[in-house]
Amino acid sequence: MTTTDIAGCKVALARFDLEDSPATVRQKSRDFFWYSPILKRQLADVTGDFVVSPRTEAEVSHILATCWQHNVPVTVRGSGTGNYGQAMPLAGGCILHLRHLTAVTDLSHGHITAQSGAIIADLEKAARATGQEIRLFPSTVQTATIGGFIAGGSSGVGAIRWGGLRNPANIRRLRLTTMEETPRQIDLTGADIPKASHAYGVNGVITEVEIPLDPATDWVDVLIGAERLEPLTELAMAIGDSPAIDKRMLSVFEAAICQTYFLRHRDFVPATEAVLAAMISADTLPALEAMIAGTGASIRFRADQNPSTRRLPHAYELGWNHTTLRALRVDPAMTYLQMMFPRATCLDDLDRVKARFGDEVLIHLELTRFDGVVTPVGIPLIRFTSEERLEEIVTILEGTLGLPVFNPHRVTLEEGGMKRPDLTQLAFKRETDPKGLMNPGKMIAWTDPGWTPTPGKTFLFNE
Ligand SMILES: Cc1cc2nc3c(=O)[nH]c(=O)nc-3n(C[C@H](O)[C@H](O)[C@H](O)COP(=O)(O)OP(=O)(O)OC[C@H]3O[C@@H](n4cnc5c(N)ncnc54)[C@H](O)[C@@H]3O)c2cc1C
Repeated sequence: MTTTDIAGCKVALARFDLEDSPATVRQKSRDFFWYSPILKRQLADVTGDFVVSPRTEAEVSHILATCWQHNVPVTVRGSGTGNYGQAMPLAGGCILHLRHLTAVTDLSHGHITAQSGAIIADLEKAARATGQEIRLFPSTVQTATIGGFIAGGSSGVGAIRWGGLRNPANIRRLRLTTMEETPRQIDLTGADIPKASHAYGVNGVITEVEIPLDPATDWVDVLIGAERLEPLTELAMAIGDSPAIDKRMLSVFEAAICQTYFLRHRDFVPATEAVLAAMISADTLPALEAMIAGTGASIRFRADQNPSTRRLPHAYELGWNHTTLRALRVDPAMTYLQMMFPRATCLDDLDRVKARFGDEVLIHLELTRFDGVVTPVGIPLIRFTSEERLEEIVTILEGTLGLPVFNPHRVTLEEGGMKRPDLTQLAFKRETDPKGLMNPGKMIAWTDPGWTPTPGKTFLFNE
């Protein structure tokens, strides 16, 4: 039987940047798990034993080898903005904090390479200095790391052009250090990238990331209002489909969300109007205006025509999971779900959801591309009353209304509904983390090989 030797491991790592004051360790052991009232209860007491911050890839190897020798679990930490408890060390042990690994190591025409602890906004800034921009980022771009996004995130701003992280067009290469007696460096490209992307760091430490760049565009934040949600959603999908309009984000909200939670933007929009928050290229704003004319919708805000309001939050900080953050700031009893609205039946489905739940479920949609098709992803706000009722809402959405839910109130890769047990990631973990020390408890397929998902569950990726 193997014994975890925390004290011996700390002594062996004493020459590194190591912190073990309980307050610091507890703080670095937490992410945005509290977004979920269920995870907030389940994970409240989770904490690691110490935090160590490597300064080089060689130090990452040395630290992993030392943790291997002492059988100490390792949970990698970027910025800790994951909102499913991905970065929470369920089995305690070492928090491997990547705050020193932030360098841009190559910036060329069409791609940028950086250490995985680089803040994504810094990559965008570096790219823009060369007339380029990154393709895809979470709404936490200002704080999240590129490694954390690739390991813990899934989609975000730019997905209306390029789809989510799973699209092979969005990552060129990942460099990974394995958790073995003698750690190895592996470069993953092409079809091998999903072995480590969206794997919550269970199969190694991503130390370097290479992502594609596009020519920079001058994006303008726009708010469009309309009296009814369904026609506005239809308009958003038409904008999404239109080759004449360049867009980086299309987010739809029912009226109550804007009025109750978008405190800095709500005065621009009449109280009864649903809102489409968009990032549109300056060049194609005339095409947007032409498309909107006669639809009953109106442009209520354009950042380029409101110089005095330039200090407003970016439009992307209204969308994606920032919508939930804004709601939580006003009303701590709000929570959320993640779901699909199939394109073909979306408008009817929105009606059915509203008819069934009324104001208990407030509609928030992000338009993305799935296999090239513009498709609304739902991140609805939920008025939380009890865990039982939240589970019941999921059951009604999936069972009665037939809408796929990707449950964000679960801490494991599989139960979150993003994937079935991923046999490729599992096989890769056997190669890269044979002792199962990387972020234990996040991959059911590892701890409980006999586990099967509830029959009838829908998964985002079926491979
Ligand atoms: C307000 C808000 C808005 C958000 N919006 C979005 C969004 O638009 N799209 C989206 O996808 N997500 C979103 N998220 C979730 C989260 O912000 C992103 O996934 C983010 O990119 C995570 O980056 P991070 O550096 O904070 O990672 P962390 O939270 O530190 O880590 C995330 C996971 O990746 C692992 N990990 C981190 N770095 C590495 C590494 N180098 N190697 C291996 N494993 C690693 C961690 O162990 C953990 O499992 C949002 C969260 C919040 C709170």
